[in-house]
Amino acid sequence: MTHELRVQAVSQVTDRKPLPPKMPQRLEALWATDVFTLSKMQASLPKDVFKSVKHTVHTGGKLDVSVAGAVAAAMKDWATSKGALYYAHVFYPMTNATAEKHDGFISVQSDGSVITEFTGKVLVQGEPDGSSFPNGGLRSTFEARGYTAWDVTSPAYVMETDNGVTLCVPTVFISWTGEALDKKTPLLRSIAASSKAAIRVLKLLGHTNVAPVNSSCGAEQEYFLVDAHFAHSRPDLLLTGRTLFGKPAAKGQQFDDHYFGAIPERVQVFMQDVEERMYRLGIPAKTRHNEVAPGQFELAPFFEAANVASDHQQLTMTILKMTAKKHGFVCLMHEKPFAGINGSGKHVNWSVGNATQGNLLDPGDTPHSNMQFLLFCGAVIRGVHKYGPLLRAVVATASNDHRLGANEAPPAIISVYLGSQLENVFKQISAGQPESSDHAGVMDLGVDTLPVFPKDPGDRNRTSPFAFTGNRFEFRAVGSNQSVSGPLVAMNTILADSLTWVADELDSKMAAGADLSTAAHAVLKEVMDKHGNVVYGGNGYSEEWHKIAEERGLANLRTTADALPVLKADYIEELFDRVGVLTPVELESRFDVYAEQYILAIDVEAKLVISMAKTIIYPAAVRYLSELSGAIANLKAIGIALEQETAEKVAVLTKSMTDMISKLAAAIDKHDFATPEEHMQYSSQTIRPLMDKVREYADALEGEVADDFWPLPTYQEMLFVK
Ligand code: ADP
Ligand code: MG
Repeated sequence: MTHELRVQAVSQVTDRKPLPPKMPQRLEALWATDVFTLSKMQASLPKDVFKSVKHTVHTGGKLDVSVAGAVAAAMKDWATSKGALYYAHVFYPMTNATAEKHDGFISVQSDGSVITEFTGKVLVQGEPDGSSFPNGGLRSTFEARGYTAWDVTSPAYVMETDNGVTLCVPTVFISWTGEALDKKTPLLRSIAASSKAAIRVLKLLGHTNVAPVNSSCGAEQEYFLVDAHFAHSRPDLLLTGRTLFGKPAAKGQQFDDHYFGAIPERVQVFMQDVEERMYRLGIPAKTRHNEVAPGQFELAPFFEAANVASDHQQLTMTILKMTAKKHGFVCLMHEKPFAGINGSGKHVNWSVGNATQGNLLDPGDTPHSNMQFLLFCGAVIRGVHKYGPLLRAVVATASNDHRLGANEAPPAIISVYLGSQLENVFKQISAGQPESSDHAGVMDLGVDTLPVFPKDPGDRNRTSPFAFTGNRFEFRAVGSNQSVSGPLVAMNTILADSLTWVADELDSKMAAGADLSTAAHAVLKEVMDKHGNVVYGGNGYSEEWHKIAEERGLANLRTTADALPVLKADYIEELFDRVGVLTPVELESRFDVYAEQYILAIDVEAKLVISMAKTIIYPAAVRYLSELSGAIANLKAIGIALEQETAEKVAVLTKSMTDMISKLAAAIDKHDFATPEEHMQYSSQTIRPLMDKVREYADALEGEVADDFWPLPTYQEMLFVK
């Protein structure tokens, strides 16, 4: 194999005609046409059934299972009218993936005829094999029973592909013994827990009419698009989602010419296709743009209630991948597909609010006098400080390790950015009574024809992992491949814990005679005295911050191997148990699953490094050497001396690479580890550096070997040929 595949790929990409853009349809004609919405239910259900379902959806109240029969029948009629013959309980196992088991509506009658049928029982409960998904020891292979159960708060929808239409019902996934095997169950529990605690605080603040509190989530998804011709000739992209080899192209992102640049035509047609599907599925796609790295893009929806947003985020990832295929791309959501240029994250914007008091993290114009906001914001500050390592642990994956702390993404140290206005208000709280809020001011551009507009009260800080951005927090350390559920669970859980603490403190201070205002100020002062250390407004990438953070006692958990064991710490176990989100057994199973995934991910990569280096890169180097040495010898025979340095260099690099391959091969042969912790450290400290070393030699070879001998599509081709 020489570079023929590459040449073919380039010409195929060049000759490719982009799919013609579809005539854009009116949003109203597209919106939620593939969703079994409340209004469709209202039109097709008996009044009392609809009222009962709507009550559960809007208040999170108990589901009356007796309505399921009527809902199922209406759902089936709607889905079959859209062409569905099958339905699927969709669930979210601990792998970050989405799983579904398809069953036909078909029911065979005694006379051999068939009808379609979808009963309440089947809607409410399914029974996939519980042992075939990672469960961290919660289920053995022989204890196979697992259940999926209908989540009425996340609407059912139909998924249409070229191969047919399927009714999809979002569900939770639990074991026969009742333990959560998925990412949705804890999310729902964490929403309920934070609602309960928030309502207590709101009532103490004097509100009498308090609606259930929900958390909101708007997740910004970054991704790369690579033409399928290139991606399919790269075993590493196919199997691991990232390039394990590849010399950075001469041009990367140094000109800043891609960020917010004009979207390439082929990509824009793709994006519009994605958005149309999202609109049909009721997912409010809102923002699209080129990202910093060449070939990198971003998609952000309008925010939604956390549970629905989380299901929609999973769907968005599915749609991106599916649609990319149609357009001849491969969509890479790995956190670091290419070395030397930015990787991809998923900023999770998060807030809490309800129908009666609105967004509880909205500071208003004068935050210093907005006690409600200050208490909720203070609760977040306390939670992030107390449980920072947990926030680090929920974004810990093998792939995200390439990004965090690499001066393109937030550092592994978890701190809170408040912006100058709020930082100042909280400083005043530490010093005593907050008296004033800096005014945001207006932006006068000094040109009469340009508008004067109000300025935000605080700047942005790209280097903070957890930043307040006006009326919400933005958790910026989340990986692009991850389910948003884990981060949301962590944020809701620490908030529930902190708000319960706030309510307890207010209760006891007021019982001792303090008035509300005095009690609340005392609570806030205590938050700042004990936890103000977590607030940091400076440059999170700087060396200086690493020093300061250490002095402040903030953890710096650099790798997944360092961070995941936090899930086993007593104080984290107590937190999840106390708040009622995960039992100790469920939490431990999560550690087991995530640790195993980390180890497996690195193991697969290491094996692939070995096989690619041996069977693709080594042969290329040797062929080139043979040609070079032949030329040197032939020329020598006629009395011409050709320089020999190149041949020597290639020979030395090839030898160094094969030596390193042997070391890596020996290293992955070790299997006797006392604990998963020990195994993770080994993967992180021994295997990964050896992989990097092999790559170093291979990439150096790429810089020496004749281009027409190099079989792997290059960075230049993958990133710049569209
Ligand atoms: P930026 O890149 O400037 O951070 P984007 O527009 O790309 O902003 O994304 C901001 C995200 O934050 C959007 O998904 C938006 O809907 C979401 N968002 C806005 N307000 C809230 C809120 N109250 N709760 C959760 N998410 C929110
Ligand atoms: Mg953004």
